[in-house]
Amino acid sequence: MKAYRLTREQSRGEFCEVDIREPGPGEVLVKIGGAGVCHSDLHVMEYPAGILPYAVPFTLGHENAGWVERIGPGVAGVQPGEPVIVYSVWGCGRCAACRVGAENYCEQAPLFSGCGLGHDGGMASHMLVPSARFLCPLKGLDPRQAAPLTDAGLTTYHAVKRSLAVLRPGSTAVVIGAGGLGQMAIQILRALSPARVVAVDVLADKLAAARSLGAEAVDASDAGAAMQIRDLTQGAGAELVLDIVGTDATLQLAVNVARRLGHLTLVGIGGGTLPFSYLGVPTELSVASIFYGSIPELTEVVTLAESGMIRPQVELFSLDQVPDVYQRLHDGRIQGRAVITPNG
Ligand SMILES: [Zn+2]
Ligand SMILES: [Zn+2]
Repeated sequence: MKAYRLTREQSRGEFCEVDIREPGPGEVLVKIGGAGVCHSDLHVMEYPAGILPYAVPFTLGHENAGWVERIGPGVAGVQPGEPVIVYSVWGCGRCAACRVGAENYCEQAPLFSGCGLGHDGGMASHMLVPSARFLCPLKGLDPRQAAPLTDAGLTTYHAVKRSLAVLRPGSTAVVIGAGGLGQMAIQILRALSPARVVAVDVLADKLAAARSLGAEAVDASDAGAAMQIRDLTQGAGAELVLDIVGTDATLQLAVNVARRLGHLTLVGIGGGTLPFSYLGVPTELSVASIFYGSIPELTEVVTLAESGMIRPQVELFSLDQVPDVYQRLHDGRIQGRAVITPNG
């Protein structure tokens, strides 16, 4: 089959011909319905040599959903033909973190490793999944629509869920970056919390998309952006700030609009840093970076999407268009989430 693979570090990837492997004991072969194209792949492609925690080559694509094609010996609980979504981070399954489904924080597996990240991902007609525990059933959802739930959906769901205790009626949540992840974060905040949602971006179309999802929108290129947001909160600041970009500028904006006792959660891997000092950040502000969510949280995101309360905004592309899609993503020319459909 044709697969889009990262074959060298610091490259954009290329098409290769690879075999479809038969599922061995415990493994499941999935026919790909949709493979989401994630901005983090661009970072993976640009990392300096020697930084990646895994070896090339591998097939890209870490946001996958499709149908069970064949199951290996000993696999129970899934049937060929069943629509499934794939949990992307593959842990050991046995450590304390994996035991509660948080394989994203596995104590044994290399950090940030899973399909499309060290293991072959979904930018091909088929993908081999090492265990049925990474598959969640999709009942009413089209795999092409559902694929971004595995990362864009799950990561933002976890980011919101861990901070629900600070989001009370009258609270404010600020989402910095209103692209695919940001739009998902806005929908999840609206579905799970009573907080007012304020979205920040520099692009007019992203701000318009945020408004259409029920957020108030603030143009970050405006020098008074931080003041505008503080004014919206009567000067107190926001209980939760999700920084989905993660540059020096957005982290500073996040601190400037965060409230005392609030949460600042870094989702974007823009490589920025945040100066920390006693008077430089609000008192008792909790700062955390996050990486994905747990398997139980993925089932919750899928349930939320099946109920219609959140809807990934997707643009569909063929496998042949992958290089062009990465370029468009790089240039900020993707509205919502791009999804590759290798089987049409
Ligand atoms: Zn991603
Ligand atoms: Zn583990």
